[in-house]
Amino acid sequence: MAIKIDKKTCISCNACTSVCPGNLLYLNEEKKAEICDPKECWDCSACLKECPVQAIEMYLFPEVGGSGSTLNVKQDNESLIWQVKENGKIIEEIVISKKDSNKF
Ligand code: SF4
Ligand code: SF4
Repeated sequence: MAIKIDKKTCISCNACTSVCPGNLLYLNEEKKAEICDPKECWDCSACLKECPVQAIEMYLFPEVGGSGSTLNVKQDNESLIWQVKENGKIIEEIVISKKDSNKF
């Protein structure tokens, strides 16, 4: 698996670049987040959870979410809302309290 970043949605906040444990994310010359070495990403999902505008999605294995499926994380004041999408359409949502977010 790996991530993809929607550069049109990215607001250059730097949240993802500070949390990536492998220092894989950086802002390019257009001040948009980019991953320097996708094969080094170990799918920890830290960047998904931090992005305030859901610009980052993680590809899922077909056996997990179906062909072409991705995962991203929305948030409100109290919860992280994990969304599984297939070809851009939400097929499942899992809501987790922010208090428990590090358990998953
Ligand atoms: S999923 Fe984890 S390892 Fe991969 S780019 Fe995001 S923060 Fe870095
Ligand atoms: S956290 Fe999201 S909005 Fe902020 S720099 Fe990273 S991709 Fe862009």
